[in-house]
Amino acid sequence: MTRTSVGADVPVKPTLYRHPHGITAVDAEYLYPGHAAAHLIADSGHAAFVDVGTNSSVPYLLAALDELGIARSAVDYLLLTHVHLDHAGGAGTLMRALPNARALLHPRGAPHMTDPAKLVAGAEAVYGAARFREMYGELVPIPPGRMQTVQDGERVELGGRSLTFLHTPGHARHHYVVVDEAHRCIFTGDTFGISYRALDTEKGAFIIPSTTPTQFDPEAHLASVDRMLGYDPESMYLMHFSRVTGVPRLARLLKEQIAELARIARGHADDAAPAAGIRADMLALWLQLARREGSRLPDAALAKALDGDLTLNTQGLISWLERGRKTTVQP
Ligand SMILES: [Zn+2]
Repeated sequence: MTRTSVGADVPVKPTLYRHPHGITAVDAEYLYPGHAAAHLIADSGHAAFVDVGTNSSVPYLLAALDELGIARSAVDYLLLTHVHLDHAGGAGTLMRALPNARALLHPRGAPHMTDPAKLVAGAEAVYGAARFREMYGELVPIPPGRMQTVQDGERVELGGRSLTFLHTPGHARHHYVVVDEAHRCIFTGDTFGISYRALDTEKGAFIIPSTTPTQFDPEAHLASVDRMLGYDPESMYLMHFSRVTGVPRLARLLKEQIAELARIARGHADDAAPAAGIRADMLALWLQLARREGSRLPDAALAKALDGDLTLNTQGLISWLERGRKTTVQP
């Protein structure tokens, strides 16, 4: 299902999830409800978005500010964990409506937001040009004067709280996460995987890694998960989909799969067409783990819920295998 993009001021009804410590998830309405959440942090009259979704998400984010009684001028920052378009595609459009907002980016991601041509080309390679336009519309560059890069370990103040940025390669080389130490939570973008609320069980959340093209790196990913665990977080805020707790259990589940998906990909490295084998093995792994973690959903329902991730993860694992064969260093 696709959505026609709507103008920034067309009234829409946002779906909000209120979390502790001034944190609200706004459904970004990307692909389908419950798939992607932009997070809004409000503190002492100041606010920031962590990831923003696509151009089509912008009206929902602005409506969320209205519903929460937060002035557009109170938004100091867009914290863009990485430049994948479901996270940052709407940033340029959103900034036009937020007069004081600055976008904070990893130094490797920043150039792609001032000049999105490469991002467009990359996404068109995954989705095709027509589907790309449907999903993301026209990417609006972020003016360089309204952007700032953040180094590993750098902090910013937002109202009364301090946020720390950690560079966390693994899902993408240009990825950072945002640590809110005082409230024991981390905004993880895609570095702590994907966890749809529809797949929750009595044991808690079910979680999978995202190995999307083109920068998956299993070793770096495992190290990034461990680094986040070092903060002993009580909760993680994922773009897909929002707050999860019971972090040590989820980290184990995630790390087990990062290693296993790399093993699966290597096992098909010499196949003439590796996609079918990788996808089938990944689905078998996920069905088995979902059962182990207490899911009672039928196989077909699980496969449907994970269908998009099976496709993207398979593409990303193939891209990882191909990179491993090349001798040239990637930019
Ligand atoms: Zn991503």
